[in-house]
Amino acid sequence: MKIMRLDKFLSDSGLGTRSQVKLLIKKGLISINGEAARKPEQKIDAEFDRIFCQGKPVSYTGSFYYYMLNKPAGYVSATDDNTAPTVLSLLKDAPGKDLFPVGRLDKDTTGLLLITNDGPLAHRLLSPKNHVDKTYFVRVSGIVASEELQLLETGLDIGEQSLTLPAKARLISVLPPQGSEGPVSEVELTIHEGKFHQVKRMFQAIGMPVLYLKRISMGTLELDASLTEGSYRPLTSEETAALK
Ligand code: URA
Repeated sequence: MKIMRLDKFLSDSGLGTRSQVKLLIKKGLISINGEAARKPEQKIDAEFDRIFCQGKPVSYTGSFYYYMLNKPAGYVSATDDNTAPTVLSLLKDAPGKDLFPVGRLDKDTTGLLLITNDGPLAHRLLSPKNHVDKTYFVRVSGIVASEELQLLETGLDIGEQSLTLPAKARLISVLPPQGSEGPVSEVELTIHEGKFHQVKRMFQAIGMPVLYLKRISMGTLELDASLTEGSYRPLTSEETAALK
């Protein structure tokens, strides 16, 4: 049982500031166990009451905050660094104490990065035994043929004790040579583990250097195509609930 004011519950769940959520209540957009909510100060049980906002379930996140960032190149996935700006510098105005990135993308990698202060969730998502899928859009130098796709899928020696775990690889397109540059292949690769520089090392193992790397999903979380590089947004309650 976790009894609290409705407006605090909604605000802690990422629906907005106290005054924004008061407006949602006033407009009749919030329901509690099927009944329209009446007042911001109304007491609810955050664990057992079924609270909906415009028909969508609101899940309680307490003082945890969850953001999706479209990481640009040139930023390091760390909380502080002496040599380069960190991904956290892009969330300067975001509410939430002690935010950190869940896992790392290389400085030159772009795309989906989850930023939170929920340590237990981060631990679960990163634990090797959970094999959370990560999907990347990759541009490599050369033509990726079916033999290479098969090697990527079955497992490669990237200098670790064992081969990489089975993965999924799909050729998206082959771009013709441009000027002095040779052909470039675009591939979607899903891996179930997260070894250091894993994607770059997998392509290196088949002799194809990575030119561009972008993460497009992690587990159930997909990069919002409307987020430009360097921008972020809070996860929706559905996205947060699906990660847990
Ligand atoms: N694999 C890489 O090589 N780099 C990343 O940033 C992520 C996965």
